[in-house]
Amino acid sequence: MSRPLVAKIHLAAMEHNLAVARQRSPRSKLWAIIKADGYGHGLERSMRGFAGADGLSLTDFDDAIRLRELGWQKPVLLLEGVNSAATLRLAAEHRIHTVVHCAEQIEMLEKTHLDTAQGPQMDVYLKINTGLNRLGFLPEHAASAHARLTAVPAVASISLMTHFANSYAYGTTHPGISVSEQVMRFRAIGRQLGGECSLCDSATVLAVPNAYADWIRPGVMLYGATCFPGVAASSLGLLPAMTLESEIIGVQHITAGESVGYGSRFFAENSMVIGVVACGYINGYPRSIRDGAPVLVNGVRTRVVGRVSMDKLTVDLTPVAAARVGSKVTLWGQGLPIEDVASAADTICCELMCGVSNRARAIEEPLPKADD
Ligand SMILES: *Cc1c(COP(=O)(O)O)cnc(C)c1O
Repeated sequence: MSRPLVAKIHLAAMEHNLAVARQRSPRSKLWAIIKADGYGHGLERSMRGFAGADGLSLTDFDDAIRLRELGWQKPVLLLEGVNSAATLRLAAEHRIHTVVHCAEQIEMLEKTHLDTAQGPQMDVYLKINTGLNRLGFLPEHAASAHARLTAVPAVASISLMTHFANSYAYGTTHPGISVSEQVMRFRAIGRQLGGECSLCDSATVLAVPNAYADWIRPGVMLYGATCFPGVAASSLGLLPAMTLESEIIGVQHITAGESVGYGSRFFAENSMVIGVVACGYINGYPRSIRDGAPVLVNGVRTRVVGRVSMDKLTVDLTPVAAARVGSKVTLWGQGLPIEDVASAADTICCELMCGVSNRARAIEEPLPKADD
């Protein structure tokens, strides 16, 4: 018998969230970001959930090829580009768009012989570093990089992109570089070099209309969550695409003064009922979670008590009178926003979702009807 732990993936929620992103920016084309195994939801499932996207975008080269093998015919974009002549040739062969973010990648394009018998095959995104200071060319080097790419016979098109440092702090006072400043730096280059442009991640799709441009690149919102502090994704019309569910596998009745779990982090003030849940940090549930973090048992909101262990965690069953071995436990998803769990672990929902990838049995499930 397999463990009761399952990650229920709701493709209908993915489709719905994609539509929400489209409504925000109806004139833009949309790259659905499916890096990290579709933020933990599975590559192939994400491909189907986002079948309506204009393109799929990720970082892992093998996954890009896999999308082609699975039959995806629309564009695929490699967010970090390629790192060898061999992968460059394969990318051209499979007509995979690649980001070019450093001089080494330009040199590779210049030196690798790519077949142009059927015309130029490489669609590239020149990545501009407008202040995140991670990947990309500084604004003053953009024009020369662009000129070199233009001279490569295999290059079919050059688009421009950048990525924001503080999009989730939009509208707040923040000491770091603002979205507006990055947009300004990027637009200056866009006017100079031309080509299609792409700026927006989920936060800017949701909050900054003047950054939309030709392509948007939402990720986390498509899975039904956001990283805006204190903002519920449901208030933005998003639906959770993953529900992590398990069961109670043991019950303990303890008296006041007893502690629960490794390190005795939690002490009972009164006699209470403890439920043991089949889910631990090997399954992606954060070990850093605090006592009091929310969890649902039989749909009733209660709390995590005691340290999460490798394959189990413990919850307070005192408020859930009917709970027993076999009772349903929702760790996050339908009925329990993942943001609430993330904040109790001092992390963001992306880290939680991605952490589940292949560490819980995934099943597809339709969304419950509104009146269920
Ligand atoms: C991950 C990523 C995105 C999507 O970010 P979200 O905050 O999940 O919407 C967009 N662009 C790039 C370059 C990324 O790496």
